[in-house]
Order: sequence, then structure tokens, then C-alpha cells
Amino acid sequence: MSGGPAVVTRFAPSPTGRLHLGHALSAVRAHDLARGGGGRFLLRIEDIDGTRSRPEHVETILRDLGWLGLAWDELSFQSERLDLYTAAQGQLADLLYPCFCTRAEIAASLSAPHGPAPVYPGTCRHLSPADRRARMGQPHSWRIDMARAVERAGPLTWHDAYAGEVIADPLAQGDVILARKDAPASYHLAVTVDDAAQGVSDVVRGVDLFDATHVHRLLQALLGLPTPRYHHHPLIVGADGQRLAKRHGAPALAAMREGGADGHALSDALRRNMLPAGFRLGEA
Ligand code: GLU
Repeated sequence: MSGGPAVVTRFAPSPTGRLHLGHALSAVRAHDLARGGGGRFLLRIEDIDGTRSRPEHVETILRDLGWLGLAWDELSFQSERLDLYTAAQGQLADLLYPCFCTRAEIAASLSAPHGPAPVYPGTCRHLSPADRRARMGQPHSWRIDMARAVERAGPLTWHDAYAGEVIADPLAQGDVILARKDAPASYHLAVTVDDAAQGVSDVVRGVDLFDATHVHRLLQALLGLPTPRYHHHPLIVGADGQRLAKRHGAPALAAMREGGADGHALSDALRRNMLPAGFRLGEA
């Protein structure tokens, strides 16, 4: 028997569309890390976005993973775990404030609305208690007062298999939303709560989610949750070096499957970082 704690990984797709090659890469890597460590591989369907999540996409995801030869040990749905997220939100209540801004208002108040990651300008943080009370009947999200949260949590780091020891800088992400207007929870809160509740030891996901980890690390500290190891792997890019988009004509896994392609062969190719013609692995 090995002495170390078991490796637990997860693949956590949002059923808002069909999976593509990048998802397959994440799933294969998460699966193999667990299997290699005698651990468990979890499949978590991140279906809290009721307006965009579709049951038919869930069906397709399950089929795609089977086609890739990836068996999961446990299947969960975030839509069935909402109480956990509400409880976590309650624990953070004194750091949250209601935000009444619409997307259009936020875009208009930013000097560079098309920049990489627009940071909320903090408009509703400055509302008086009386203004807040008067507007509570209007649709609102809940944002975290990041400056106060960072002060409370103190300095934080995490370990990333690619980037090494990372100093968390959640302040750069601004006052992110922890409870949405149009959904019962936010991505950040749900992911952080679930990774801890499900005993995930290693989070394997694309480097496009690296910035989110600054927020997740902060939430772990505030909620008293453990910090997993992170593996933010490079994304699959087109021949032009840009991340996969429609113009690259990257086929959905379902289309490859339905076209008779061999899913096990694709998994094996991804294990060797061999990609179909026209695609390659980007920078870490
Ligand atoms: N549900 C997220 C997505 O599909 C991934 C969450 C995660 O791996 O942390 O982009």
C-alpha cells in the first residue's frame, strides 16, 4: 500500500455546447492522473447556468467520454448541489454587496471595454445603505469586495504543476460575482466549494482558467477549505497559434464519433501530444 493520500481529479464540463478537442485533452489528462495515482476520476456536470445548459448536451458529453475510453467513478450535477453554494455565500455575506449594474452599464463605464478581462469598476460598492435597501426589489447579483477580502485572507500562494509556486493576486480580478442575477450560483463559488467537498486533490484544466484560480485560492482561504494542486495545461491552438475557435473548423467530438473516428486512438494520440493536422499545443 502506498502511504500518500489518493489522487482525486475531475472533469467539469458545462453542458452549454458540444465538447471539442480541448475538452478531450483536459479529460484525458485528468483521467490519467487519477488512474496513474490509483485514485478516482470524477465527472461533474456544471449545469448551474439554467439558460444555457441543455440536457441533450449532457447526454452527448457522457457518450463522448465513453467513446474516448474514459470511465468515471462518480457523476455529479451542480444543479443538485445548490444548497452548498448558498451556504458558502452565507459564510461570506459580510464581504458581499448587491450589484444592480447591467452588462451594458458596466461596458459603458470601462475605458477599454474590449480589453482582455474587464474588471468591474466598483460602481455599486459605493451605494449608500439606504440606496441599497431602496433597490433590493430590482434584479441584482452579489459581488465580493475584493480589497477587503484580500486584506482578511492575507498573502496566499498555490502550487501549479506548470507554473510552479504562484502568488495569488485576486485583487487584479476585481470585485467578481459570487451569486448571479440569472443563475443560482456563480462559477467561482460552485467550483471552489465542489472541489473541496468532493475531495479533489488535483485540478486539471486549461490555462485559460489560470486567472480564475487567483479567485478560487482566495475563496478557499476565506471559507477554510483545502487547496488542491493545479495543473493548468496548454490549450490546443490552430495553425495560426490562436486558441480554437469556429474559424479553425475544429470538429466537435460528437461529429468525429458519429463520423466513425476511433475515440480510443484519439485519446492515445492526445496522451502523446499528437494532434490532428492543423492543430497543435499552445504555450503553457
Ligand atoms: N465548467 C468549466 C468549463 O467548462 C470548467 C471548470 C473547471 O475546470 O474548473 O469551462
